[in-house]
Amino acid sequence: MSDDLIRLSAADLGAKLAAGEVSSVEATRAHLDRIAAVDGAVHAFLHVAGEHALETAAAVDAKRAAGDELGPLAGVPIAVKDVLVTKGMPSTSGSRILEGWIPPYDATPVTKIREAGLVPLGKTNMDEFAMGSSTEHSAYGPTHNPWDLERIPGGSGGGSAASVAAFEAPLALGSDTGGSIRQPAHVTGTVGVKPTYGAVSRYGSIALASSLDQIGPVTRTVLDAALLHDVIAGHDPLDSTSIPETWPSMAEAVRRSDVSGLRIGVIKELDGEGFQAGVRQRFHESLDLLAKQGAEIVEVSAPHFEYSIAAYYLILPAEASSNLAKFDSVRFGLRVTPDGGGTVEQVMAATREAGFGPEVKRRIILGTYALSAGYYDAYYGSAQKVRTLVQRDFDAAFEQVDVLASPTAPTTAFRFGEKLADPLSMYLNDIATIPANLAGVPGISVPAGLAPEDGLPVGIQFLAPARQDARLYNVGGALEQLLEAEWGGPLLGSAPDLSTHELTATEEGAL
Ligand code: GLN
Repeated sequence: MSDDLIRLSAADLGAKLAAGEVSSVEATRAHLDRIAAVDGAVHAFLHVAGEHALETAAAVDAKRAAGDELGPLAGVPIAVKDVLVTKGMPSTSGSRILEGWIPPYDATPVTKIREAGLVPLGKTNMDEFAMGSSTEHSAYGPTHNPWDLERIPGGSGGGSAASVAAFEAPLALGSDTGGSIRQPAHVTGTVGVKPTYGAVSRYGSIALASSLDQIGPVTRTVLDAALLHDVIAGHDPLDSTSIPETWPSMAEAVRRSDVSGLRIGVIKELDGEGFQAGVRQRFHESLDLLAKQGAEIVEVSAPHFEYSIAAYYLILPAEASSNLAKFDSVRFGLRVTPDGGGTVEQVMAATREAGFGPEVKRRIILGTYALSAGYYDAYYGSAQKVRTLVQRDFDAAFEQVDVLASPTAPTTAFRFGEKLADPLSMYLNDIATIPANLAGVPGISVPAGLAPEDGLPVGIQFLAPARQDARLYNVGGALEQLLEAEWGGPLLGSAPDLSTHELTATEEGAL
């Protein structure tokens, strides 16, 4: 029974809860049991809030018993990326510098999931301050990919993706600054969505790069992502970049999905050299299926996308260096005092030396350099110009097509350590995901099957014009149905069962 509960989609679990076939306390306990059984091997969670979750679940059950009107996800458990602050629950953003800090308030997306009756299970692992593509930069050790525990689950939101792929939670929240929702979805066979910039409030999201960050859903089905999107999107006066308009229902877009006549543009620059053969193969098979349903597939060019990574790795460190300046040993978390005491500056320096990991230090140095008086125009200024050119590529492409498509990332999940020593090879993972953040447009990664050469998941990415998030759910929902018919069921049906897994020596080492 409890094994069945963890394998349900959030939509189906929500329906069973509404029908009174199961209680939220039972559903929550089933997921907590699963976490207890497999998270030693997966390490998706930094903090499991078991007691709190059971209390929340009991409160939802009581409301239901009292006849309250509840939403479709009421009583369904959810995992929350540790980048979002949670009242009374640790929130570290994967960093030592925030160890022990307990926030006094909830981030707006957390408030919204609570209001919708969802049950937060705890906080998920991530690269420190969301900098990375593998979770190897977490100060608390990496998360393991449930498909192969010696491989990375993607990053920075590897914990959220792995928790969903390992059936520890049916839903999770992630954040995507350059791909941290979509790339983990690609390597774990899950669905990940970066909404339009400004669609979901960033209030209470520990900022990496404020002009790029966006919170979004991580799930096993497109409908589940849409249902969660409907809960978290909407105007928030506490975030000055929040879009004031109301949104159409994304769940409706999935239910009515129809791709006949839809024009899909294949981005020429993201479909060739540097992309693994099996990743491209699954990508093109997906496009063929959509074409059979009446979608029109055309090739489009985005000539400036090749400069996106260079621009991003100037804009992001510049913004991050400013955002992270608040971690000064006075206001939050860690404080390290040098032996024998020290001045304020010395305490600050010792705290940052001990509290920030190497990737964070690298980016702070890069960012402050790019912003320094003599170099501002040459680096930051030029990067902003490239950003405009990328935005114009999107504008031109969306004059020809309704959505764009590419593989979500160049390769399937790589092994721990493979890219750690060479930051540039790690950064190249984001080639297909970064342009959307630079332009503020929405993107989805949908599982497209397993790569024939290694049997690991592959994702296909769709991008839509700003505010047209519903188009992603339309095409994503349609493709999911077509692919399930091809495979005879959902991709995660073939994921390994981890309950009896014992860690090998290498996996222990990675932890
Ligand atoms: N991998 C990218 C980076 O390291 C993306 C991070 C993110 O989206 N938070 O910056």
